[in-house]
Amino acid sequence: MKNILIVLLFPILFISFTVRQTVANQNIKKKPKNIILFIGDGMGYNQIKACDYYYDEVQPYEKWENQFWVSTYPFGSSYNSDSVWTFYNYVKTRYTDSAPAATAMATGTKTYDDVIGLDYNYYRVENLCELAKKFNKSTGVITSVPIPHATPAGFLTHVVNRNYFHSIIAQMIIESKADVIMGCGNPDWDNNGTPKTKESDKYFYPSIWKEIKAGNIEMTDETGIKRNIESCDGDNIPDKWFLCERLSTFDSIAKGLFIPKRLLGVPQVYETLQYERNKIDKEANPYDSPFISSVPSLSTMLNAGLNVLKKNNNGFFLMVEGGAIDWACHDANSIHMIEEVNEFNKAVSSAIDWVNIYSNWEETIIIVVADHETGYLTGKNINDKNYKTEKLQLENNGKMKMPGMQFNNMKDKDYYGHSNSLVPIFVKGNGSMVFTKYMDETDLVRGKYIQNNEIGLAIKELIKTIDIK
Ligand SMILES: [Zn+2]
Repeated sequence: MKNILIVLLFPILFISFTVRQTVANQNIKKKPKNIILFIGDGMGYNQIKACDYYYDEVQPYEKWENQFWVSTYPFGSSYNSDSVWTFYNYVKTRYTDSAPAATAMATGTKTYDDVIGLDYNYYRVENLCELAKKFNKSTGVITSVPIPHATPAGFLTHVVNRNYFHSIIAQMIIESKADVIMGCGNPDWDNNGTPKTKESDKYFYPSIWKEIKAGNIEMTDETGIKRNIESCDGDNIPDKWFLCERLSTFDSIAKGLFIPKRLLGVPQVYETLQYERNKIDKEANPYDSPFISSVPSLSTMLNAGLNVLKKNNNGFFLMVEGGAIDWACHDANSIHMIEEVNEFNKAVSSAIDWVNIYSNWEETIIIVVADHETGYLTGKNINDKNYKTEKLQLENNGKMKMPGMQFNNMKDKDYYGHSNSLVPIFVKGNGSMVFTKYMDETDLVRGKYIQNNEIGLAIKELIKTIDIK
């Protein structure tokens, strides 16, 4: 019986596989030259809607033709559609942290919590930046949280634990061939953008920070070994990092007045661009708690990064993270979560403008996704007694009014805060169809979805596809 089944099934499987391959290949007439991947850390569907309702907007990416869903769980875990829509508590289990989620998207391989750039046997797996370099592209990562945090780390490094910040920094600055690295963690400044009397060594260890500031070619890794930094353009001659700290320098690079060959952007602020400012006044309306004026926005950093990356005729791969959306959701801080999603949205819109002005959708593909949902954000007054799918929806209370919603992570002290919910993905540009070939799973409510590691597989395919001109 078994043999008969295999004989019967094999041709069917083979045919459906071949059909899907052909459909995908037909749709990449020419591979996209540039790939921009936006990751809203912790940004589930309801985080996007909360920001939309508050500002009375619908984001351009929400109108894109290609949008579906992604499951985010790590290696060894699972997602069960029946259970999600039956049990209120289900998504509070089996969730991922940002390390395996970044690894899945950056390498195409699911792994364990806390692990970066290594598979479930702890072998190194090639990330998108490494692969893109083999195809002579430029690469970059940009984030609104510290540079060695899990998401950017996933795209450039390989470590067993996401908290090994010094090792991650050494791999990023000394070993990686990246052209652009931008984000927070500046040792000399505090969370309000004020100079510190004693530098912090949590993210950048003192020797490397000194060497970066001196513009050295030779740098000391976290174990004390001195090595030359890498070449970013493939000629094997080390390329110096240009360290950008001041807002005026970010502005000049963003405007194209001056474009360094290799850019390390570390604004004059400590852990986040804006989120950690005035920590005591968390619930204050952002309009009562003005932005730190000496720090660039994520959009300005993006525009600066694009000016460096676009110089390469072979194109680029760029990952941009809205990292503090997750931090606000962990704190169940509604208004600042909305503020962070808004800053992320503005960066996506800047990238869309950039494609329309300096590139086009045949040449560039943009992907907007989350690594996981944080906070289990739902409509108001939901609990395990009255759990219904409709109750997940937020209440729109109009412009500049807080939507009716609740963070369910605050009810339960043992619960870390991430959820196993599906997150939305939006794709526009040449090569979009490569993603749809992975849509072989269906959720009862959301519909078609892919696995997070299939984002990595799809982008690897886009980088590798032979350019048929
Ligand atoms: Zn988190």
